[in-house]
Amino acid sequence: MTANALTVGFIGLGAMGGPMAERLLAAGHRLLVHDVDPAMVARAAALGATALPSPAAVADAAPVVFVSLPTPEVVKQVALGAGGLVEGSAMRVYADLSTTGARVAQEVAAGLSPKGVAVLDAPVSGGVAGAQAGTLSIMVSGDRVAFERVSDLLQAIGKGTIHVGEQVGQGQTLKLVNNLIAATVWAATAEAMVMGAKAGLDPAVMHAVVARSSGRSFSTEVFMPEAVLERRFDFGFRLELMRKDVRLALAEAEALGTTMLTCTTAKQLYDHAHAHGAEGQDVTALIRLLETWGGAEVSAQRRD
Ligand code: NAD
Repeated sequence: MTANALTVGFIGLGAMGGPMAERLLAAGHRLLVHDVDPAMVARAAALGATALPSPAAVADAAPVVFVSLPTPEVVKQVALGAGGLVEGSAMRVYADLSTTGARVAQEVAAGLSPKGVAVLDAPVSGGVAGAQAGTLSIMVSGDRVAFERVSDLLQAIGKGTIHVGEQVGQGQTLKLVNNLIAATVWAATAEAMVMGAKAGLDPAVMHAVVARSSGRSFSTEVFMPEAVLERRFDFGFRLELMRKDVRLALAEAEALGTTMLTCTTAKQLYDHAHAHGAEGQDVTALIRLLETWGGAEVSAQRRD
């Protein structure tokens, strides 16, 4: 262990949490971990983490606890439910790396603050590759002193972390803004690419041109080359999680009373994919639905 090694709790060792935990271990910190999936726990334990039986047990031993969990409901359960973090006595800082929306961040803060716990929301962007490389974009909100206390730890998992504001939930709202843009641009990109393929354009050529023209985006730079053109559909972010983010974002927009014509249409596409069995599939597989409807494939090895 290094001289400034800390004891850190980490709950949720999935596609994002697994590599983030691995980077904290590699930075020399002592990790106390928990996940409901024994395979995820075994993977972290093999790298040197200590497995504990519940979130409460983690919060009883670790002064700083990170969570990276799939949905707002799970985050609430892990933080405030029976056997949850709220029952631990050592935790002083809690940071949520998941995408859960501002409302749940505020509910968790209301439950943990009376126990003397500083609550930070610290959602991330950059995908599994960013988590593995330690280059995630992290948008943190909450008490600045607590933020500074965990900034060394955040440096192990992200680059250019920004403290968005003192108010719990601001980081979550910014993350929803980001993902609403990403989800809507991806829906539009997929539709346009299917149109081009149906018109007879070579998808690889189409991608090469758009990727250096004004239509480029994260979708063309990251989703397209391998996941779509090579038919791997393996970016590492499940479509149901992107749909969750779009729904959370539009619920916040509804509460704020802002107009969301374009993003609402994109949401319907994600809802449709979900209703037609895309649950569990990668977000890049959204294009397959459009390919079926359009009758053309956006593949580097064209078959149509
Ligand atoms: P995931 O489903 O791969 O991982 C979630 C982990 O939480 C799993 O290992 C699961 O077993 C565990 N878990 C579920 N319920 C639990 C409980 N009650 N107690 C303890 N552990 C529990 O999801 P992910 O892709 O790693 O995403 C995690 C969060 O990060 C989500 O909120 C997602 O929206 C967000 N996110 C994901 C990506 C991405 O590219 N995958 C990028 C940015 C943000």
